[in-house]
Amino acid sequence: MEKRFKAIIFDLGGVLSVGKKEEFAIGVHEFVAKKLKLSLDQYMDSIDEIYSAAISGTIPRQKVVAIMSKNLNITPKALKEIYFKAYKKNFRRDKGLYHLALDLKKKGYKIAIISDIWCIAKEALLDNRYYKKFDVVIASCDVGSRKTGTEIFKVALRKLDVSAHEALFTDNQKWNLIAPRKIGVKPILYKNKRQFMMQLKKYGVI
Ligand SMILES: [Mg+2]
Repeated sequence: MEKRFKAIIFDLGGVLSVGKKEEFAIGVHEFVAKKLKLSLDQYMDSIDEIYSAAISGTIPRQKVVAIMSKNLNITPKALKEIYFKAYKKNFRRDKGLYHLALDLKKKGYKIAIISDIWCIAKEALLDNRYYKKFDVVIASCDVGSRKTGTEIFKVALRKLDVSAHEALFTDNQKWNLIAPRKIGVKPILYKNKRQFMMQLKKYGVI
């Protein structure tokens, strides 16, 4: 019998790249706020709107960096340095899962990443060289849509050259599984590598 699935798509934050602390996103923001000697509230107030627009990719990178630098009262260079440090400090790659992905590729599956991420986090966490064996890597800030909508998944499927029915997507947030399910992608809520492998077995992938 021919296998149903041809592509396995991974989330980045909380899946391939996990927080050292439970609340990893907060870890990054706390780190930056502290460096800039702002309370978390002051910091959040000054980045809130631009930060979510930056993830959605509705504003170009240059403008995002310019507005954030202005709001936080630092140079674009300093902004980038602080965030790079924050992401490197707060995230670590799950090497076990990474190698599972590469094994899936050896077995003939296409592998991909879809991440809701803003430009600076992408540059810090989504290293092109490290993830070069992935067939497709898509960041929300580049495509102008997030995982709560179907568009980003359609872009991925087109690039992977597979139909929705042939793709499996795993994410650690329930709300990111709604849109892919709607278009026929098989969703798996990611908890840990062991649980994910059990799901892959259940679906005849491994
Ligand atoms: Mg995630």
